[in-house]
Amino acid sequence: MRRQDPLILGAGPAGCATAIALARGGASPHLIERTRETGDALCGGFLSWQTLDRLDRLGVGGLEAHPIAEVRVFHRQQRATARLPDLAIGVSRHRLDTVMQRVAIEAGAVLERGITARSYADGILKTDSGDFAPEALFLATGKHDVRGFGRPKPAGDAPMGLRIRLAPHPALRKLLEHAIELHLFEGGYAGLLLQEDDSANLCMALRKSRFAEAGGDAATLLRQLGDDHPQLGERLAFLSEAPAADAIAAVPYGWRTDSTAPGLFRLGDQAAVIPSLAGEGMGIALASGAAAAAAFHAGGADAAPDYQRRFAARSRRPVAVASMLWHQGERPAMARLAVPLLNAFPALAGFAARLTRIGD
Ligand SMILES: Cc1cc2nc3c(=O)[nH]c(=O)nc-3n(C[C@H](O)[C@H](O)[C@H](O)COP(=O)(O)OP(=O)(O)OC[C@H]3O[C@@H](n4cnc5c(N)ncnc54)[C@H](O)[C@@H]3O)c2cc1C
Repeated sequence: MRRQDPLILGAGPAGCATAIALARGGASPHLIERTRETGDALCGGFLSWQTLDRLDRLGVGGLEAHPIAEVRVFHRQQRATARLPDLAIGVSRHRLDTVMQRVAIEAGAVLERGITARSYADGILKTDSGDFAPEALFLATGKHDVRGFGRPKPAGDAPMGLRIRLAPHPALRKLLEHAIELHLFEGGYAGLLLQEDDSANLCMALRKSRFAEAGGDAATLLRQLGDDHPQLGERLAFLSEAPAADAIAAVPYGWRTDSTAPGLFRLGDQAAVIPSLAGEGMGIALASGAAAAAAFHAGGADAAPDYQRRFAARSRRPVAVASMLWHQGERPAMARLAVPLLNAFPALAGFAARLTRIGD
């Protein structure tokens, strides 16, 4: 049985932010991560001005990404453009996770890769490389649940995520430069932005039934969407013949928890899942990491329940507003209205963007 305190499960944005803040505060955090090499997690890759500020405070920089100044919203032939409150960026998760892991190690954290946590009960964490008995455990496994701490599965027609990469092309770069695009369609939306290597990330959140309508085949879905939504079709023309898609099922958008077991700090998507349309999941991951580390430094493992209650209250507004926007955006009548509304009142975009950020 290994003790290794404090122990962090998962080296994504939440786990790395926690490791950096714990190490800077004088603790000796130990991170365990199931992947042997940093992959490219399914994510839209949008980092807001506020998330960039949080990264800056953690000493994470050098992402060398494309700046984003405006949001463009599309529905069929319609299009609206609005300025964002401040500069954001688009970056791949491979780049972000690589840089954050490096900063965590430089700060003094130990990162052990290739270890998968299987379950946690009565203070014992079982992994495929033996058992751990940490006094304080930071659960940052994101989209993946650990037995004993599963989040409720969304009922009915569950949302899912689908991500496709478009290879770099000068014309695609010209089309997407300085913007995040949101293409609304019945049963979901596609976000599109440039990544640091000039490739584009097309990341969709859609209902399972919409994917089933396309026979559960990403290429068919894209063909159908491109036919119905010509402006999205124009961008999809840059895709290769058989695009490789990553998928994630049953995303519990809107879920939050205000309770936890003693000694267990829940972080990131394991604390609150904001609908991805808001582009604030990584902001929440970083905010939870900083808050949990501060709580641990002040009160040790016993501080977990109080941290969890406070973080649930802090994430209530952004999660509720993003859930409302996501539900409205996937309704055909509202999607039709969204573009004219934004054209008439472009300030609405900044207003929605501010309301869906997590505060300090
Ligand atoms: C379709 C979609 C688009 C999105 N777009 C955006 C966006 O544009 N901007 C934004 O800010 N957010 C976006 N998000 C949300 C964002 O991806 C998440 O909120 C964020 O990744 C949460 O970070 P995390 O560290 O909690 O979890 P993750 O990023 O999921 O990281 C978890 C880590 O834990 C590891 N792990 C998992 N299970 C185990 C285990 N059992 N043992 C050991 N290690 C384990 C994983 O390998 C991974 O490294 C999007 C989400 C979806 C679904």
